[in-house]
Amino acid sequence: MSTQPPSSPAPHPARSDARAWIEVDAGALGRNLDRIRAALPTGTGLIPMVKADGYGLGVAPLVERLESAEPRAYGVATVDEGMELRDFGVRRPILVFSPVPPGDEDAVVEAELTLCLSDRAALGRLREVARRERRLVPVHLEIDTGMGRAGFRSDALDDWGPAVREAVAADSGADGGVALEGLFTHFHSADESPERAQETIAAQRERFGRVSAAIEEWVPGPLLVHLSNSAASLRTGAAGGTAVRPGIFLYGGGVGEEVEPPEDVVSVRARVIRVVDVPAGATVGYGATYRAGAPERWATLAIGYGDGLPRALSNRGRVVLQERSAPIVGRISMDMTVVDITGVPSTRPGDVATIVGRRDRGEPTLDEVATGAGTISYEILTGLSPRLPRRWLRDP
Ligand SMILES: *Cc1c(COP(=O)(O)O)cnc(C)c1O
Repeated sequence: MSTQPPSSPAPHPARSDARAWIEVDAGALGRNLDRIRAALPTGTGLIPMVKADGYGLGVAPLVERLESAEPRAYGVATVDEGMELRDFGVRRPILVFSPVPPGDEDAVVEAELTLCLSDRAALGRLREVARRERRLVPVHLEIDTGMGRAGFRSDALDDWGPAVREAVAADSGADGGVALEGLFTHFHSADESPERAQETIAAQRERFGRVSAAIEEWVPGPLLVHLSNSAASLRTGAAGGTAVRPGIFLYGGGVGEEVEPPEDVVSVRARVIRVVDVPAGATVGYGATYRAGAPERWATLAIGYGDGLPRALSNRGRVVLQERSAPIVGRISMDMTVVDITGVPSTRPGDVATIVGRRDRGEPTLDEVATGAGTISYEILTGLSPRLPRRWLRDP
């Protein structure tokens, strides 16, 4: 599989002395996947979620690693993401989870993607293209049991059920149309407190169960039924489904207090590019929001919010240099960040600072960085900019 679409100009060769980069630990990713699997009944299908460029890790090398797990399908958010996977040579089913804007149906059929449908109009548009192309196109139905952003509403089966049933029946055995292959819902609070998670998962399962029981009577064969994201997979297994849709846990994001954290997968590193001794009273960064209270030594790191380091960590985050913490001082700028290395005085230009790393080395974890920035691990990962080369560490 190639990682560059054929039309891209040849990139400059990756420089070994890059200013800042991301390391991805494929071994840790594999062990996190094993943790998820161990929580599931044997035979449960895997639909790894690889949307948003594989949660920022780089979808091509990610899918290369995930192939050995023989997933039932891959999950993406958009038609473009699905087409990109096809361009990389992925032959497995690719589910497009977000509803697509009208007009995307031609590309869906052309790239043999599987749409997750949320309304009758979208079903109608897809059928029209499928019939014209004389193709039987697989679809999954999303059932909205409380997430409220997509799906056929579980409390309105009487409104949409008959029309969907008719369409599916008319197309089975026809020369083009849609084939119902799967059914799913999405839990909104699976990573909240254990009580809240348990209570809401039970309520959503109940709503989903009433709809799925009705739908399973329309179709002769078994449907692929999937409910659980990472948090639900680890807390309640497949929740009655035949497959699960894990994402963040595979990539090193924790999924709630009671669940043992995953292995750290992603490290973010940056070079020291300047070291300076400053007297008491010296200021740093836009707005001069930090002032040295005593003589201090500062290091400038070659990373900033333009690389995806959240500006919210200004004056509050930390990095690790030579196994010791150095606090971020002043506001993070687009390309540079200054840390106080008074406690790590032997730091030199060219040294490597760890911004996100491994808990067993005392480095800030993905979740520590996210909490410090007032956000979630997902936003940190997907915010890491294309400026940072992704370096996949050799599998163990
Ligand atoms: C992103 C996504 C997931 C994965 O959720 P995680 O919390 O990352 O495990 C599962 N299902 C759907 C529909 C999603 O959009």
